Amino acid sequence: AARARKVVKAFGTGDTRVVALDEVDVDIERGQFTAIMGPSGSGKSTLMHCLAGLDTVTSGQIWLDETEITTLKDKKLTRLRRDRVGFIFQAFNLIPTLDALENITLPMAIAGRKPDREWLDRIVATVGLADRLHHRPAQLSGGQQQRVAVARALASRPEIIFGDEPTGNLDSRAGAEVLGFLRQSVDELGRTIVMVTHDPIAASYADRVLFLADGRIVDEMADPTTDKVIERMRTLSVEDTSR
Ligand code: ATP
Ligand code: MG
Repeated sequence: AARARKVVKAFGTGDTRVVALDEVDVDIERGQFTAIMGPSGSGKSTLMHCLAGLDTVTSGQIWLDETEITTLKDKKLTRLRRDRVGFIFQAFNLIPTLDALENITLPMAIAGRKPDREWLDRIVATVGLADRLHHRPAQLSGGQQQRVAVARALASRPEIIFGDEPTGNLDSRAGAEVLGFLRQSVDELGRTIVMVTHDPIAASYADRVLFLADGRIVDEMADPTTDKVIERMRTLSVEDTSR
């Protein structure tokens, strides 16, 4: 569902030039939950932003399904993001004056699209907020608010959903709620998810973990467990400091 080839992303010029991504290749399969991990500054957010078409690349190519997004003009890219991509961020970014259901359907309302009623019912059932739909964000717990944000990302039936530390602001119980829902979105709703996280527990919900260090993908792990991820992160940071 997403593919990157030799992606380079550099910021700045001359002395302040930083190569955040250094010839990165990525293959994300449809229906897979992928976690991106790595030390702070390793390029996780940059990679996610480039894959999602939120930022341009310096060189290299990225495809979402059959569409090469790295050559798309602004207008087409904006439309592709709106129609085919969902986002979940660390701050939930809910509108305080709207209730949960209104928040979930807002992006579609803005785009002038009618939500698919049956799909919406499935999301609401899966997210487990059926009895909270008419509560405003302030009347919901942090975990519930983030579940609303996840439901909002799913509402337009995007092909792929990107999250940057989607559980970063949550305590461990609320985080588990949201991660369980992300897992269900893949297993029961057939979504594709790419999640940046530095939390080994969060990564253990994924099907696969990509490890970034210094702008390169240095390893990957299938069927991660929390312990395996912690161990790999430890050796990564040792390799990092020994350079
Ligand atoms: P963290 O875990 O701290 O969120 P990260 O892995 O997400 O880190 P990125 O935000 O992708 O890291 O940053 C990768 C590198 O690119 C860093 O060295 C950072 O300083 C640099 N960088 C990121 N954004 C910019 C920018 N807008 N301008 C200049 N440098 C940037
Ligand atoms: Mg980041």
